[in-house]
Amino acid sequence: MKKFEALGLQQSLLDAVADMGFETPSEVQQKAIPILLEGETDLVALAQTGTGKTAAFGFPLIQKLDTKSRTTQGLILSPTRELCLQITNEMKSYSKYEKGLNTVAIYGGASITEQAKQIKRGAQIIVATPGRMKDMIGRRLVDISKIDYCILDEADEMLNMGFFEDIKDILSGTPNEKSIWLFSATMPKEVAIIAKKFMHDPQEITVGVKNSGVDTVQHEYYVVGGRDRYPALKRLADANPDIFSLVFCRTKRDTQRVAEKLIEDGYNAGALHGDLSQSQRDLVMGSFRKKQIQMLVATDVAARGIDVDDITHVINYQLSDEIETYTHRSGRTGRAGKSGISMVIVTRSEMRKIRAIEKKIKQDFISKKIPTGIEICEVQLYHLANKIKDTEINKDVENYLPAINDVLDGIDRDELIKKIVSVEFTRFSNYYSKSKDLNTTGSSDRGESRGDRGRSERGSSDGSVRYFINVGEKDGYDWMSLKDFLKDKLSLGRDDVFRVDTKDSFSFFNTEAAHTDSILEFFSDFKENGRFINVEVSKSPEGGGRGGRNKGRRRDRGGSGGGSGRSTGSRRKDRGSFSKGGAANSGKRRSNSKKKSGFY
Ligand code: ADP
Ligand code: MG
Repeated sequence: MKKFEALGLQQSLLDAVADMGFETPSEVQQKAIPILLEGETDLVALAQTGTGKTAAFGFPLIQKLDTKSRTTQGLILSPTRELCLQITNEMKSYSKYEKGLNTVAIYGGASITEQAKQIKRGAQIIVATPGRMKDMIGRRLVDISKIDYCILDEADEMLNMGFFEDIKDILSGTPNEKSIWLFSATMPKEVAIIAKKFMHDPQEITVGVKNSGVDTVQHEYYVVGGRDRYPALKRLADANPDIFSLVFCRTKRDTQRVAEKLIEDGYNAGALHGDLSQSQRDLVMGSFRKKQIQMLVATDVAARGIDVDDITHVINYQLSDEIETYTHRSGRTGRAGKSGISMVIVTRSEMRKIRAIEKKIKQDFISKKIPTGIEICEVQLYHLANKIKDTEINKDVENYLPAINDVLDGIDRDELIKKIVSVEFTRFSNYYSKSKDLNTTGSSDRGESRGDRGRSERGSSDGSVRYFINVGEKDGYDWMSLKDFLKDKLSLGRDDVFRVDTKDSFSFFNTEAAHTDSILEFFSDFKENGRFINVEVSKSPEGGGRGGRNKGRRRDRGGSGGGSGRSTGSRRKDRGSFSKGGAANSGKRRSNSKKKSGFY
């Protein structure tokens, strides 16, 4: 494999490469850099997100510019403000040893005068969103009549967002003999039109799908009922306590709603979408980068191209109708050689989309089950034990040790450990031990069209009642023997007890609502082999949906509708690296009660 030295880059750039810790050029860099350095040419480069496109055009651009002249020579257009800023920052690191080189970002929502001032000081490179660029050209605040290079980054997305006319207008004010370098993840019709209309004999490079970052992403799907998307999301988060994720929704409204619910349920979450003000977006992105936000719920447009390292999971809360979108989403994880997981929450009726995506990305999905309460409890328990192990001892505790020792006198180590762990864990396990299996069974999913009210756990879609019973496989039951047991005890007919679902230490079953009272009554005081057998009507993990907003109740139920316990103070202290700003933030957010405006 070629090294950066072999690509023809000047020493100052190689030094910057070394500083950034890049070792080998990515495929798109290997292909594009020599072509662009060699002569003046137009270029169409197709490569997915996360393949290192910025450096692929950034290095050659920097090397080709005349830093002695203050004239604007390179224009980089990109679809969103976030990307603009990201590219600008990258360009600045690449050019740290280039004396006198100035890169300025131009984007909407920030002071136009301030941006104009920066340009006036001399900017050889401008990184801009098309809308603001056009605006500034119109006001003669910027001059691109002498540029040599125009880069269209994420061209497909810019066109998706309706920037075709703006781009056309901007290009019309640039010299004919400039070069256009177009970078895109995909090649839809509109991109081809741009290439044909504005470019001269462009050279083309394509980077294979199975390249660098892409291999390192594992794709998983989880089939749930349409109304169980949200509880499923929470379980995925709870089963991954150190999650640092982007959660994708289809609309701004859903994005806002899911983020609000997560915050309400005590997660370190935030929303990113186009209806937020500039400063709100900056705030959210800032918190996310600092990992104070663990779950950033975003629309596709807002999250496009965001380059935050270390994203552990991309969660497709809803799939987009466009298959291509999936590549952009999953490309947010598994960056820079790290591995990542892209999870899709789907309903049965959406399974064909999974198959279509598999074809597109030439990779298979793994079918996974939403973790059960037991599994989550186990994960959280080990997580807690590890946290305790890794916790640095606070010196101030020492002063109180004699008194604490007095209190704990006579408790042996084993017992003490059990007690310490239980402090956090009991509420949590109480909640999850009664939670249902979210994975859809054979029945067809009618959930989605009816919105996410309708069925609570007790309901099932057929109007029957679902029960929790505190015996399971550990007690020697399987579904048939448990069904027989219930039938006999309750003097019910053969088909009166159904959907019997045994888990390790508990089970579920259904009956018609007419039997509920007598069943609850029977088990109100029933012992077998000296042990109370307890039956309850199973509760929805959402705590009855909207009703779940009652904070006191959520706390009773062992922490957050999601059962993570994250809404409680003690739990928050356990948030380790995330807790510092994030918990405080989300706490602030909650008490702020500015729910309607922005992501609050
Ligand atoms: P794209 O524009 O294709 O989505 P980026 O240019 O944003 O990708 O690069 C993704 C990440 O990979 C960035 O964090 C960047 O610094 C890093 N990166 C780029 N090239 C290399 C390389 N050759 N070696 C290691 N990391 C790289
Ligand atoms: Mg990019």
